[in-house]
Amino acid sequence: MSAAEPSSAPLPPAHAALVEAAWDVRARAVCPYSGFAVGAALLDADGRRFTGANVENASYNLGLCAERVALYHALTHGAGRLVAVAIVTEAPTPTSPCGACRQALWEFAPQAEIILVNRQGHVYVTMRDLLPYAFDDAALRATDAPPR
Ligand SMILES: [Zn+2]
Repeated sequence: MSAAEPSSAPLPPAHAALVEAAWDVRARAVCPYSGFAVGAALLDADGRRFTGANVENASYNLGLCAERVALYHALTHGAGRLVAVAIVTEAPTPTSPCGACRQALWEFAPQAEIILVNRQGHVYVTMRDLLPYAFDDAALRATDAPPR
């Protein structure tokens, strides 16, 4: 994806509140190794927000991205249909979710509007923009192979 110029136009109120929640949780990121703090907030169809920040570990591969922390928080706290995801960083260009998070978000929030945010503004993308040839359960159902 090319880096789109972030817009500084006002967001709809529900999305502005979601972005604010993502900035708030970003302050609690645990990132002593990378110094790259990320906040994520998910909005469900009932207007509930679920947040998460990245958490790193001295055993690097045990860390988890903000998007999946927020997503798993939402899934384990009764979220309804997920309709929007805000991802905030201080990076010079709005930060996209990594490949693993794209796959995880595709599974549980394929229709969500994704709002990538930095201090300059925001960019809206769709999950289809982020993962155009997604793998999902449809691929599993398409096979004739018997389950193992
Ligand atoms: Zn990720």
